Amino acid sequence: MQTDSYNPYQVAQSQFDKVANILELDDGVKELLRQPMREYHFTIPVRMDDGKIKVFKGFRVQHNDARGPAKGGIRFHPMETVDTVRALSLWMTWKCSVVDIPLGGAKGGIICDPHHLSLREQEQICRGWIRQVAKNVGPVSDVPAPDVMTNGQHMLWMLDEFETIHGGRYPGFITGKPVGMGGSLGRTEATGFGVIYILREALKVLGLSIEKSSASIQGFGNVAQHAAQLYTQMGGKIVAISCWDHADKASYTYRKKDGVSVDELRKISDKFGGIDKKQAQELGYERLPGEVWLEQEADILIPAAMENQINASNVNRISKTVKVIAEGANGPTTPEADEEIKRRGIFVCPDFLTNAGGVTCSYFEQVQCNMNYFWEKDEVLTKLDAKMTSAFAAVNELATQRKLYMRDAAYVIAISRVAEAVKQRGWA
Ligand code: NAD
Repeated sequence: MQTDSYNPYQVAQSQFDKVANILELDDGVKELLRQPMREYHFTIPVRMDDGKIKVFKGFRVQHNDARGPAKGGIRFHPMETVDTVRALSLWMTWKCSVVDIPLGGAKGGIICDPHHLSLREQEQICRGWIRQVAKNVGPVSDVPAPDVMTNGQHMLWMLDEFETIHGGRYPGFITGKPVGMGGSLGRTEATGFGVIYILREALKVLGLSIEKSSASIQGFGNVAQHAAQLYTQMGGKIVAISCWDHADKASYTYRKKDGVSVDELRKISDKFGGIDKKQAQELGYERLPGEVWLEQEADILIPAAMENQINASNVNRISKTVKVIAEGANGPTTPEADEEIKRRGIFVCPDFLTNAGGVTCSYFEQVQCNMNYFWEKDEVLTKLDAKMTSAFAAVNELATQRKLYMRDAAYVIAISRVAEAVKQRGWA
């Protein structure tokens, strides 16, 4: 999401520039990596349920595929912009690289609000998006996945359209599919669980016990719900959850004296991660302004909603008790806020490392599709934990050795690998 004063693409480029200078990258490599290699912008005409044609705008941006086929989700959002998609495509490249999976980075988007679309209309949008890019994506070139407000059903409609156009079965073309239709067990949980695997490792470094810790979370969608679930299973206490209220066009923070119950809130939330405020009140939750989640006296903050949520205007509201920020969302912290967080010595688990569980499991999904043999859930989650834990260890070791901020250390590892790949291919 982009606002007048915040442009996520500029943020992604400034983060890149900073580390490119630390790495002393050649000018050619720098120029190649600071922008996407390919972009597709197109319209998607859809006959709506009332018989009228409505034209939606769609994007696919492929940032870099030097390390393998480009990979990245497709987002439905009424405020989607091409600069958001560009930023997310860069972050995807760094994400696949930091966890060392053989994939590049891409991202897709459609400007639409599924709250106001029937399932038939959503299906037509998904099929229309594929028709526009069917020649430019595929299992060995660019592999999409779900993101904000998209799910397994959307992926299956897209796969079906792709297979109809190309005349074959290509289950490895798209990930995040429903289990039983080429999807992997554990994919739904993977991003949120991955956030907690990383958080668990960060707490170990800081000598803190998860059982004695407390967290405040922004978001209650796919990532936040599964992060909250595993965090509480491991013994942590959630003090507050904030989410978007579609009817009021505002965000609220929900808080309860003895802690938030994930199961309780799940029962009263919709498929977009919105919480029913009336039922929350009946269950004894206080409803406070959206940004209050930042001020909670917690050890941990988990932003797991959207970009630009911790910024210059609210970073000073972060409570003195906060020791760790585990970024579940993509780009939740602006560079200005990041400077202040760094100054305060808060341990940051950076987004493209912390939320890499989703793409790692998507990679496992592709591997399983290629073998046409599917693993048990325990096997998927054990492999996921191992991958996330070793990526964290490498970033933390570099940060300690070279006295780098965790975000910069993660970037150094991710960017060096991609820079090496473009050089080895002779691109720069
Ligand atoms: P989702 O659509 O399932 O949930 C989004 C949540 O954010 C909802 O609870 C919504 O109410 C809340 N929200 C939106 N705007 C808000 C605001 N201004 N204040 C408070 N809450 C707000 O999306 P998701 O899949 O959970 O993705 C969340 C974030 O994680 C995004 O940044 C996404 O790009 C990133 N991410 C997702 C995945 C994945 O596998 N789904 C993987 C990596 C990263």
